[in-house]
Amino acid sequence: MSAPAAVAWEPTIGLEVHVQLATRTKLFCRCAWRFGAQPNTLVCPVCLGHPGVLPVLNARAVEQGARAALSLGMTVNRESKFDRKNYFYPDLPKGYQISQFDEPLAQHGSIRLDDGTHVRIRRLHLEEDAGKAIHDRGDFGLVDFNRAGAPLAEIVSEPDLATPPQATEYLDRLKQTLRWAGVSDCDMEKGNLRVDINVSVAPAGRRATGTRCEVKNVNSFQSVARALEHEIGRQIAVLESGGTVRQETRTWDEAAGQTRVMRVKEEADDYRYFPDPDLPRLQLSAEWIEAQRAALPEPQAQRRRRYEQALGLSEYDARVLTAERETSAYFERLLAAGSAPKEAANWLVNDVLSWVPPGGGVDDQPIPPEYLAAVLQLRHDGRINRNGGRALLEARAGGDLRSPQELVSALGLETQSDAGALEQACRRAIAAQPKAADDVRAGKEKALGALLGFVMRETRGAADAGKTRAILLRLLQP
Ligand SMILES: [Zn+2]
Repeated sequence: MSAPAAVAWEPTIGLEVHVQLATRTKLFCRCAWRFGAQPNTLVCPVCLGHPGVLPVLNARAVEQGARAALSLGMTVNRESKFDRKNYFYPDLPKGYQISQFDEPLAQHGSIRLDDGTHVRIRRLHLEEDAGKAIHDRGDFGLVDFNRAGAPLAEIVSEPDLATPPQATEYLDRLKQTLRWAGVSDCDMEKGNLRVDINVSVAPAGRRATGTRCEVKNVNSFQSVARALEHEIGRQIAVLESGGTVRQETRTWDEAAGQTRVMRVKEEADDYRYFPDPDLPRLQLSAEWIEAQRAALPEPQAQRRRRYEQALGLSEYDARVLTAERETSAYFERLLAAGSAPKEAANWLVNDVLSWVPPGGGVDDQPIPPEYLAAVLQLRHDGRINRNGGRALLEARAGGDLRSPQELVSALGLETQSDAGALEQACRRAIAAQPKAADDVRAGKEKALGALLGFVMRETRGAADAGKTRAILLRLLQP
């Protein structure tokens, strides 16, 4: 976004985010819903829109939608309703989508960005997903209806964002909050979080907003930033050359790195919404809403503060441990097992998390919390040093299912064996740093520091400094 100095342009950005809610079944039928199943195997007459069938609302989806809303500080409405949004598209077998038009499930939330910007969230409503049209098969198209009827929450922000980095920060916060609440995995690669962008530009300082364009089909946070950069630049170029921005729906072409026109909006879309006659109004009691609030975990920011202030963890460790709900749950289990907080955080962040496969979480690595707690206990009792602890973790990661207690003797990790190990480390230090060794032999004791540092690095600081020093001097006697 590089506006020339002559006229400053101000973008106005709003985001509509579709999030797939974590439920086992679809929004209005009992079909299972999961990503990656054989095409057209998760379907029934209801989600295929056969005549004469009736939708039945999935209570779990309402729970998850309400929890999503509450985690974003929104008000869940005691009453809302479902409407039919009518349009024709091959992936929409009924010819309409059941959504919520003028009475959404929830409204009035907000997300605060690091720069203090308060991004208001206008509304959150429930709706069913469409199927998936597949167009890349040459001269014919295919449709997979597995996704048809999957539960979505659409979360609409007010146009309170002004820059691409703000937009990606908002999305990141939104994703973290919803994942923390356990309402969606927000996995963009599976299409579980999809973003539509609304953007316009106007001369800075005049509180007017320009004609806005919608950009659909943006599939990663990085693409959101790139699509915004491109679209803002495009609109500024149109305006500076004396043209007018047309109101249109555009699509983001990832390969070409630009937005393209999908359709020009002569007037607002007419979906002929009307209340779905097959679904009663959704009525929620105040008690039910409070129960959803009570079911939410301790808010992420609050837990982070507690880790720093009450447990004395570093800001970095507290941040890592509260980045994902499952990581925090793992840490809580270490605390419940009596592990010392700082030591537990240290081993979890620096060691255990290094086994997490790319794109996975703490539950995808091989060391269970009970195992790490037992290792920490052995450390606490002084039976093993840091290397020993690391060796125990490596054994488990390598598939050895024996307990840490068994392994300590089987692998000879008791600290008693340290003297020999320390001497070997000292010999390696001397071999690796012959110049320093010669200096010590020549009586320059200052050179001992380099050798000592080598041994400390090798033993990750677990070596007894006094003992190491004595061994080095003995080995280097002239
Ligand atoms: Zn179905």
